[in-house]
Amino acid sequence: MTELMLKYFRKKQKEVQTEKVYNTQCPYCSMQCKMQLIEQSVVSRKQYKTVGKENPTTQGRLCVKGMNAYQHAFNKERLKYPMLKVNGEFVRISWEQALERIKAQFTRIQEEDGLNALAVYGSASITNEEAYLLGKFARVALKTKYIDYNGRLCMSAAASAASQTFGMDRGFTNSLAEIPNTRCIILAGTNIAECQPTIMPYFEKAKENGAFIIVIDPRETATTKLADLHLKLRPGTDAALANGLLKVIVEENYSNEAFIQERAHGFHEVKEYLASVELREIEAITGVSINEIQKAAIKFGKEETGMIFTARGVEQQTDGSAAVRNLLNLLVATGKLGKPNCGFGAITGQGNGQGAREHGQKADQLPGYRSIENKEHRKFVADVWGIDPDDLPGKGVSAYEIMEKIDEGEITGLFLMCSNPVVSNPNAHFVKNALKKLKFLVAVDLFVSETAKLADLILPTSSYLEDEGTMTNVEGRVTLREASCPCPGEVKHDWQIIVEIARALGKEKYFSFSSAEEIFNELRLASRGGIADYYGITYERLRKEGGILWPCPDLEHKGTLRLFETSFAHPDGKAKMVVVPNKPVVPKEEVNSEFPLYLTTGRVMSHYLTGVQTRRSPALAARNIESYMEIHPATAMDYQIADHSLVKIDSRRGSITVRSKYSETIRPDTVFVPFHWADSQNVNVLIGGELDPVCRMPGFKLSAVKVSPVNDVFAN
Ligand code: SF4
Repeated sequence: MTELMLKYFRKKQKEVQTEKVYNTQCPYCSMQCKMQLIEQSVVSRKQYKTVGKENPTTQGRLCVKGMNAYQHAFNKERLKYPMLKVNGEFVRISWEQALERIKAQFTRIQEEDGLNALAVYGSASITNEEAYLLGKFARVALKTKYIDYNGRLCMSAAASAASQTFGMDRGFTNSLAEIPNTRCIILAGTNIAECQPTIMPYFEKAKENGAFIIVIDPRETATTKLADLHLKLRPGTDAALANGLLKVIVEENYSNEAFIQERAHGFHEVKEYLASVELREIEAITGVSINEIQKAAIKFGKEETGMIFTARGVEQQTDGSAAVRNLLNLLVATGKLGKPNCGFGAITGQGNGQGAREHGQKADQLPGYRSIENKEHRKFVADVWGIDPDDLPGKGVSAYEIMEKIDEGEITGLFLMCSNPVVSNPNAHFVKNALKKLKFLVAVDLFVSETAKLADLILPTSSYLEDEGTMTNVEGRVTLREASCPCPGEVKHDWQIIVEIARALGKEKYFSFSSAEEIFNELRLASRGGIADYYGITYERLRKEGGILWPCPDLEHKGTLRLFETSFAHPDGKAKMVVVPNKPVVPKEEVNSEFPLYLTTGRVMSHYLTGVQTRRSPALAARNIESYMEIHPATAMDYQIADHSLVKIDSRRGSITVRSKYSETIRPDTVFVPFHWADSQNVNVLIGGELDPVCRMPGFKLSAVKVSPVNDVFAN
């Protein structure tokens, strides 16, 4: 290239023209950061730049996932037309043909196998409007009791613990703004630095202000760097550790007797149980020393203010709901609730992890967090929907149990919306084989995911840039994400797809919506007077106010920044403490001579869930191109595993092959594998199907495994 040409191109490079600005919201985690995507033209090509936008939750911060989210939305692999499987190949069909096919298959299945032979499987990444509509679709259009969603595998333990203790499940009892002023923080099983990076400044500020931070985690992570005290427990022993903390608090007189007397039940029983527990026993179970347990408990008990945060490390266990309840016992016992800078936060993983669990996608739930088993609740919602309460189906089963019912042949048709159960469910080989037995599987997705590959029909849906609707973020703050560009090809929004199928099934009367806002207005009515009351929230208010924390029962209500200031949400206004025994009800998998190591799983910063979107964003995929197994070098030596070498991991369910990664900071008895990859790197192949008896959460965070080198590099 001549000097002249180079000069010309350099000059042109500088002539960056802004073509378009998309005002949007990150589609990934529960922080729901507001952002602007700026489309620019440089010479003859387009380039994109993402910048954060001021908002009350993240004040314009973004992480690498949000900055690169547009790459999946503009990916060439996006589905643009309905695709029907014919002789094993997907072929393009029209929407009319797709709807006819669905009508014929759904009708045939319900005639042959009964109404409940059709199931619906939803997602916590869809908007509130779509989650609400999907619940209504299952109960009114399909009349099936079988609906659940992928949030069951994510937030259900914290949700049920909060419902049982407080009578209400809003992930955060306070707004995030209170975190910097609290004096002691417990972060239990949460790696916020990688999973919700834009929340970190709240905790960094707290530390700057002198807060003492206790992190409970079997691994050292980017988050444990914040810790003043790191309790590096054995995986799966959080409930017992909380008993140790409680015992010290109660016996050293740091419990708040006045608060307990006035505002809680169950303390006496908990105290009695703790008297029978020995700290030596807790030390043996958890691997955390008595000295550290005492230090943590006294610090938390002594400080005037304190907060506890949990995430999947505690929750994704077969006793996850009990473990979270025991941490909530700690808050109730010390009276650190309902007042400034004190409270609980379940740090939701998925973008709409909060809102999607409030309005009817769960097996036992109706909108507004109403119960499908409560007669009055059924009548209220049936009246809003214009149906007879007796026509509402009853309670169904949880996400993984839907897979079991498919395997058993009770469910023969599945409508799957924006979820990838072949990768996200435990016992992944079993789930894949079960799904192959279906008579008809419809998958709604952006891409041909691992599960969509098994579908008979795939319907293309819109991305975060195209779809309008509300999301409820980690705080319980409802925000409006506006649509910023038209759908590509023949793509439709999730809500449009639901409406069109309902109409094809002859249920137009109940699904006459022509915009997301119309659906939201019905959701407001259906949630009115419920626990998650959205009645006072409107699109107009959200545009003006930039987000409102529920409950918001009327149009003049400002939203609720802090819960439980005067009473809890149980009918008598009191919180419920409960005895959580050290020994879980469902026995956990033990290590033995055949499977001698604990396996725990989690996330990496650059990927989201099963990676369907982030693995298709080149800038994100490049950061973590493949899965890996973190292992202590001493353990690796025992099994002759070299650093960065291929290693086979076996559990009682199956095996995977990933690359090893030495870590001095992981417990020598534990290995860690992230869960964003599929096929031979899908760690969920190794996980068992046992469920938490209360919330039906699988035990993702603890399995017994063995490891072996794929190539005998030590022999060379
Ligand atoms: Fe914000 Fe979460 Fe998106 Fe990162 S992934 S930009 S923290 S919403």
